[in-house]
Amino acid sequence: MVTATATKQPGYLVFSLDTELAWGYYDLDAMRARLFSADGSRERRAITWLLDLCDGHGIRATWALVGHLLFDRCEDCQPCPVAAWQRSHRGFSEVYAPARPAPALWYAPDVRDRLLGAGDHHEIAFHGFTHRPFPHMDGDAARREIDAWLALGARFGIRPRSIVFPRNRAAHLDAFAAAGFRCFRSPDRSPRWHLRRFGPALKCTDDVLALSRLEVFTLDALRPEHGLLRIPASAHLFDFPRTLEQALDVRGLSQLRFRRIGQAIEHAAAHGGVVHLWAHPWELRTEADRDKLQQLFGIAAHHMQRGQLRSITMDELTTLALQRHNPA
Ligand SMILES: [Zn+2]
Ligand SMILES: [Zn+2]
Repeated sequence: MVTATATKQPGYLVFSLDTELAWGYYDLDAMRARLFSADGSRERRAITWLLDLCDGHGIRATWALVGHLLFDRCEDCQPCPVAAWQRSHRGFSEVYAPARPAPALWYAPDVRDRLLGAGDHHEIAFHGFTHRPFPHMDGDAARREIDAWLALGARFGIRPRSIVFPRNRAAHLDAFAAAGFRCFRSPDRSPRWHLRRFGPALKCTDDVLALSRLEVFTLDALRPEHGLLRIPASAHLFDFPRTLEQALDVRGLSQLRFRRIGQAIEHAAAHGGVVHLWAHPWELRTEADRDKLQQLFGIAAHHMQRGQLRSITMDELTTLALQRHNPA
């Protein structure tokens, strides 16, 4: 369980980004076609905008990458749904046309180079090699995904230590620990989770009216599990019905939706504790979406400048938590 804190540790902000282009919807053709631009340009603009926003506000983000995006094009990669599709000619859709030599939503050497060029204040983490959920795999398949990511990453000098599981579904923790990983993000399982039982309406009401406070957890609450530190998420920034979100945006009520998240950052700054926010870069689709995040980071930057809050990566948070459990 995630617990609030009133102790006097500093406040920390963790921001993790599930960076996957179309891989998050590799098995959902209709949604993929509906959600993404055909040439991947809108999603890339969001990544560039996010990097600039983070750098402008001193935010250190954890970019959890689908490993296959590191490729310029498929080599002899296994496991690889793209190669399987090419062989079978099944699974192609308008966003993955065989006529395109380098489908922009499945390969992202440009994004790879942009992240590598962004400096080591950001972290590059693991988000699967193909985004297949790990509970669906046996041990051998899980190790193949891990090994494929690590081998390709090594080519570019990338060694991920943190895991964001595809679809937030953790499994095979022992295999990850054996491969040198240190922590993983666990989904929002806060006390507020029970609101979902009463349907989405109550949760939406809570989001907008900020009836309950978002979870702010202590470093002491973080515990290793099968050799990996489980890091809770406080909030998925866009876990909200899109039509309702846009209705608020149109009425100039955009900031209402993020108010309770801003309050959690304020709480961490005032009382200590960790706020962990996450999103997919592609979810920053409109000016209003970008305004909301900018406002949030403005609040964080205000407290960071006063020394009340620090922005840290999942890996840095792991180091801090382990130091508390095992002081030198
Ligand atoms: Zn491939
Ligand atoms: Zn994902």
